Amino acid sequence: MANESEPQVSFEDSSTAFAHLSNGDLRFNYWIFRLMNNAGLTKFATSLAEFALSSRMPVRWAAKPTVFRVFCGGETISESISVIEKLRESHVGAILDYSVEGQEKESDFAMTEQEIIRTIQLAKDNENIPVSCIKVSGIASNGLLEKLSTGSDLSSSDKEAAANLHQRFERICRSAYEANVPIYVDAEESWIQDAIDRLVESMMTQFNREKAIVFQTTQMFRHDRLEYLTQLILKGRREGFRIGNKIVRGAYLDKENARAAEQGYPTPIQLSKQATDDAYNAALQLCIENIDIVEICAGTHNEYSSIYLTQLLNEKGLDKNHPHVYFSQLYGMSDYMSFNLAAAGYNVSKYLPYGPVRSTLPYLIRRAKENTAIAGQMGKEYSMILKEINRRKS
Ligand SMILES: Cc1cc2nc3c(=O)[nH]c(=O)nc-3n(C[C@H](O)[C@H](O)[C@H](O)COP(=O)(O)OP(=O)(O)OC[C@H]3O[C@@H](n4cnc5c(N)ncnc54)[C@H](O)[C@@H]3O)c2cc1C
Repeated sequence: MANESEPQVSFEDSSTAFAHLSNGDLRFNYWIFRLMNNAGLTKFATSLAEFALSSRMPVRWAAKPTVFRVFCGGETISESISVIEKLRESHVGAILDYSVEGQEKESDFAMTEQEIIRTIQLAKDNENIPVSCIKVSGIASNGLLEKLSTGSDLSSSDKEAAANLHQRFERICRSAYEANVPIYVDAEESWIQDAIDRLVESMMTQFNREKAIVFQTTQMFRHDRLEYLTQLILKGRREGFRIGNKIVRGAYLDKENARAAEQGYPTPIQLSKQATDDAYNAALQLCIENIDIVEICAGTHNEYSSIYLTQLLNEKGLDKNHPHVYFSQLYGMSDYMSFNLAAAGYNVSKYLPYGPVRSTLPYLIRRAKENTAIAGQMGKEYSMILKEINRRKS
């Protein structure tokens, strides 16, 4: 797997990494990351947030001026515009991610559909929003997606809900197609993913004839995904449609392993972090080998994988800003990678979550947990912010 060519980008330049932040914002982020590096404090705060979420305690006053400000664009699209503008100045695109999770009612699904279509329309007229994105669990219940994935018997109301889901998803993909704005479909838990895969593939065959409009997401922490991706590319070649693919390692690791252990089936997760890393890098290689019909987004904060992708592009003689290749990180995370990649000439975008504070809380809790230092080791983001503060001082 190791690729011996020279790295094409350096992630050590803190001045490029944080040029978009004023001294005040930099200090603010410093304090947030400093607090999150305190494992005990983060555990306490996330437990409190989880309790607040389940007990409907008010949380907005505490979350909005703190973690929400660092990791989200705003509560609405219009509140997020200033962040999008700031990213544009550094040639970093924004992917508006309407972050509501765990919806259960048809009326909520209809609202989410309208919101996603609004983000597509905004992207159509704003070249700094290169794509849109969607979580299928925002437009259908998890219960239904699980039944569809496992092939369980459907009641007549399930059948009606399944038809609604298909029509809703098709309307969203059609509006992306008509606006010429690609849409990334997020990958979710393995027990609902088969239904998502089938929906995405059917839309790919419909809308990806000239370019990739509908993007699948492959989670390389699943040991079956490299084979899935290989077969998907073969199918695309056979049937004449393009493959859009966001490649991620995968969230929900503990949840996947815990459920498998509890229910006594073999875990779908790779046996080690190294196996996930190898599969991730192999997927990058596979996509670059098929770049004539594959368009990718490398959704990762992993330095090696990002550098590896720059090397693959270089070795294949492809432009740094090849239109089929995007690097992407989450807003507020790994700025030192995003902004250095963009300054070096690569296509870069940030997932920019937005939505009512309470609805974004599960997302924010995941970010806080991910940024906690392991065994007292300082997180890279935090150490880069500190480096930049010291550089500006001197
Ligand atoms: C732009 C963007 C879009 C994303 N979209 C999605 C999405 O649609 N669906 C989704 O699930 N996630 C998504 N993610 C999250 C992503 O899957 C990862 O959780 C996160 O980015 C951390 O992985 P990493 O590649 O940045 O690298 P690293 O920090 O190097 O890797 C951490 C990841 O490695 C894997 N891992 C860790 N330990 C083990 C182990 N013991 N065995 C096997 N694997 C292990 C896990 O996947 C873990 O998240 C997205 C991330 C980004 C940046």
